[in-house]
Amino acid sequence: MYKLVNPSHLAVLLVVLCGLSLQGCVTPEGGQQPNILSTEQEIALGDKMATEVEANEKILNDPIIDDYVKEIGVRLARISPRQDVPYRFTVVDNPDTVNAFALPGGHMYIYTGLMKLCQNEAQLASVMAHEIGHVAGHHHGESLTRQYGYSMLIGFILGDRSSQGAEVAAQLIGTIGELRFSRGQENESDRIGMDMMWRAGYNPEAMVSFMERMLQNEQQQGRGQPALKFLSSHPATAERIAALQALVAQYPADLRATSPVYAERYQEKVLNRLK
Ligand SMILES: [Zn+2]
Repeated sequence: MYKLVNPSHLAVLLVVLCGLSLQGCVTPEGGQQPNILSTEQEIALGDKMATEVEANEKILNDPIIDDYVKEIGVRLARISPRQDVPYRFTVVDNPDTVNAFALPGGHMYIYTGLMKLCQNEAQLASVMAHEIGHVAGHHHGESLTRQYGYSMLIGFILGDRSSQGAEVAAQLIGTIGELRFSRGQENESDRIGMDMMWRAGYNPEAMVSFMERMLQNEQQQGRGQPALKFLSSHPATAERIAALQALVAQYPADLRATSPVYAERYQEKVLNRLK
């Protein structure tokens, strides 16, 4: 289904946790789905998954880039509509993969391949705001509930020392390929994310320009190009771009025109360092 750069069950798990499925359960705009995960359980699950991510991916550990990304994340997270989870932002050193995802409970991973594709800070902020939107919308809990139900989820959360828990965990990771975010959830994340960008002082048009850039790169995709993994869960379709343009049009054009994208700062802090 996906071309995985580092094939592993974990990678499948991560890709699908921020995915869009045309076969998925399409919900009405803003409609809520059942979610049996409490905030505490969601955080516990996310912490377990974060441990696995960090055991399987190379974390960048560049103090300048790390601090910069954290600064952007904090600027967005402090105005997130959801304030009961600890948002955390980690850069993955993988220039060949264009990806970013949020785990349940607020861990977020941003790949250097995606950062290199961004032209300015506002474009990176648009991706991060979208991912915060999934957390703020409780989309992980909704999707996991829909897919796995109560007993399996609780087994995964509590079962690190029991064989049954390990079995459930293996099953969850091994079969999670069917779990995706729905079109309705993706739209909701775009809406929440763009609103956060606007309120944080970024030009919301950057969310559109980044998606256009992804579409352009997809069309040029060839050998030696970074894998656009983000697109497997976030297709840059004309339809999606049109929906983003409609969202942007809700904000006053004159104020948008003077909203910053911070291209120079991004060049200095990220692009010059990731060459
Ligand atoms: Zn998404």
